[in-house]
Amino acid sequence: MAEQKDFILNLSVLYRNTQKYFDRVLVPYDIGSGQLIFLLCINENEGMTMQEVTNMSEVDKGTTTKSIQRLIDQGYVQIRIDEKDHRVKRLYTTQKAADIMNTIYEYRNMLRSTLAQDMDFETFEKMLAQASDNARDESLYEGDVLTLKIGELQKMSLGEYPGKMSCSIMMSGCNFKCPYCNKRSLVFLPENYSYQNTEEVMNFLKRRNHILDGVCISGGEPLMQEDLPKFIRRLRRLGYRVKLDTNGFYPLRLQELMEKKQVDYIALDVKNTKDKYALTTGMHQDTFSIQRIEDTLALLKASKIEYECRTTVVKEFHTKEDLVEIAKWIGDVKHYYLQFFEDNEEVIQRGLTAYTKEEMFDLLEAVREVIPHAEIRGMKG
Ligand code: SF4
Repeated sequence: MAEQKDFILNLSVLYRNTQKYFDRVLVPYDIGSGQLIFLLCINENEGMTMQEVTNMSEVDKGTTTKSIQRLIDQGYVQIRIDEKDHRVKRLYTTQKAADIMNTIYEYRNMLRSTLAQDMDFETFEKMLAQASDNARDESLYEGDVLTLKIGELQKMSLGEYPGKMSCSIMMSGCNFKCPYCNKRSLVFLPENYSYQNTEEVMNFLKRRNHILDGVCISGGEPLMQEDLPKFIRRLRRLGYRVKLDTNGFYPLRLQELMEKKQVDYIALDVKNTKDKYALTTGMHQDTFSIQRIEDTLALLKASKIEYECRTTVVKEFHTKEDLVEIAKWIGDVKHYYLQFFEDNEEVIQRGLTAYTKEEMFDLLEAVREVIPHAEIRGMKG
């Protein structure tokens, strides 16, 4: 037979002939090929709900309901009310179904043997399963992550993601204006600012996933980006582990990512004591919600995800007493770092002062009275 390489055509031939086969062999039982998948589902998962069958078969709800209703009318399936929750209806096969299931399995095996002629069918099945999984790629249906605002891509960032070889993606835009922030152009977007092309970034990541283990997503504040979950899903499909740096102002968005296991490491900036938080972030005391920061902190402390808290220490904002107070507030966190501040042209408010190395060690000693495993990060020389 001539080799036909059009995979859509082959897929269609395979599907239509399979359906035709089952439509023919199942005539004596008055079951159509379209109902077969549902009967098999219920037989192998007795007590499923209609919704669970819809989810498992990935067929739309209307078709599922119609097909199962027909199986009920024919006496192959029955509904029983859940004993513990009377609102839930569960599906079970009947004796009539049990009488024919073995025959159906035999027909399925015969089909498989015919299809498997002259080929390594097990390998084909694995590849088909992989192709089906790839077909679930939400990017096919979601469209591109066009609204993602990527400010910078750092192709290799050493030490950014603990224990991982990673690159860094910095998102534009932030809801804070920390005076000591050294990413001015990500916070106050210059007039001629142009974002990185998302697809080019994705292509880079596709080419590098055999070299890099992880992607650090920072900002700006990445959780402000509505398309961030879509973007992270794509990263994870490429096999990347994901570290997220956040200022802690979006606990609900973070929670969603954590619940869906989309992030592997979270770094939370703890800007200052509760009283000085608004001041240190350049926001108004009256409207600042410290509760959001507390919620983020509580989320991290309650989760099994790797995380760290860190404070960039600046003389004009942090006294030794402040740092001890922060340590008491955040309490028993997994990792806590005091980070060196460095003035440069990208800092929002120029002229702020860094502590010296000796002073930083003095601060660390005080903090370690509360958090013994606290450390210093970003030491130069
Ligand atoms: S330090 Fe972080 S939170 Fe503060 S303005 Fe800069 S990017 Fe935003």
